Amino acid sequence: MIEVDGVPTFENLKTSMPTEERMRKKAVAMHECYQDIPCDPCVYSCPTKAITMETLVSTPRINHELCNGCGLCVAACPGIAIFLMELKEDRGLITLAYEFVPLPNPGEIVDGLDRYGRAVCEARVERVYSLPGIDKKTKTSLVRISVPPEKIMEVRFFRRRE
Ligand code: SF4
Ligand code: SF4
Repeated sequence: MIEVDGVPTFENLKTSMPTEERMRKKAVAMHECYQDIPCDPCVYSCPTKAITMETLVSTPRINHELCNGCGLCVAACPGIAIFLMELKEDRGLITLAYEFVPLPNPGEIVDGLDRYGRAVCEARVERVYSLPGIDKKTKTSLVRISVPPEKIMEVRFFRRRE
């Protein structure tokens, strides 16, 4: 439970989760920001106005149909609370903000970690990139990992093996 250990419940997740059908079409942003905090860079980073908030302290809402999967909100969120989700036939793709150095390498096999930091599957680093303008301001890179499709809602970070 968020108030106790910072980990959202399934009820929390249900409020911001894209549908499976949407995740199969194209990468789509999903936030895991469920507390009323004064923060809104995600809203202003979005070029399609897919993210809205009623007030500065409201939780964000993402219109998954307006989202083009650009990843700008992922890099802009100071809470590392937004992810890109995409489902392929044989794997789930998760793009997350990464603020450590050295950066991992594409092709690297890593441990997929759940929200408690427990290793739950093998994952592969697919892409490591930064977005013009954003990376200079936040020093945040984006890393896309692939996991077994059934783990896409479970894995939220990874641990390098080397
Ligand atoms: S991924 Fe891009 S289009 Fe989608 S919500 Fe984030 S900033 Fe907006
Ligand atoms: S930028 Fe991140 S932490 Fe801030 S409101 Fe948006 S999703 Fe939440």
